[in-house]
Amino acid sequence: MELLESLYSINSKSGNEARIKSFVIEQLSGINLHIEEDYFGNIFITKGIADIYPCVTAHFDEVHSPGNRTTVWNNGAVRAVDAEGNSTGCGADDKNGIWIIIQLLRSKQTLKVALFVQEERDGEQPGCRGSRACPLSFFENVKYVLAVDRKGNSDVVIFSQKSGIPLCSKDFIPQLLLDKYGYQCVEGGRTDVVALKERGLQVPGCNISCGYYNAHTNEEYTLFADLVKALSFVNELIDTI
Ligand SMILES: [Zn+2]
Repeated sequence: MELLESLYSINSKSGNEARIKSFVIEQLSGINLHIEEDYFGNIFITKGIADIYPCVTAHFDEVHSPGNRTTVWNNGAVRAVDAEGNSTGCGADDKNGIWIIIQLLRSKQTLKVALFVQEERDGEQPGCRGSRACPLSFFENVKYVLAVDRKGNSDVVIFSQKSGIPLCSKDFIPQLLLDKYGYQCVEGGRTDVVALKERGLQVPGCNISCGYYNAHTNEEYTLFADLVKALSFVNELIDTI
């Protein structure tokens, strides 16, 4: 919970991801990792040695403007408020994905992680700017790309309506695991893994719910139990597929 609160306390509006990046790298400092940054500011992390790696992705940026915010908990829900107590949005989209990835980097022996900047649309600027600019070579030795950047607690996005591109086949996620964690395969919007597929990523991908609600609004919040469930789901998926 402390880590999640620290992540939420750092504003990372698109284009201003320097603080969240250094915070995350500091959190990982005790782990033996290879960390690279591309010219655009995306971060690529490799743990362990393998011929082919599981790969997970999330994005650093958020839509909310900088301002003082503190987290408040209520019945397992966490949100952020300003000095007057008004809800501000906490950046759970996609700090929840980052929280999950930090846990996975601590526990897994081998893993590749792509953390993108500038995923969110910003005024006239289209979204997924980081994932459209990055080199694709990082993904040459990965089995799949699991994005952890979907609202709610039960979706695996396997098809992007906007691009009309299937991210993976229908049987990519074992039905047994979907049932065990209460997830289902759905169509959904655009995020970095969709942009990578549009650019020709050859391996399967999907985007998994990670416990945030009302994203892109002041009323954004997280159900902590749903975030923990998402971590367990992704953890077991990596061990299975
Ligand atoms: Zn997002």
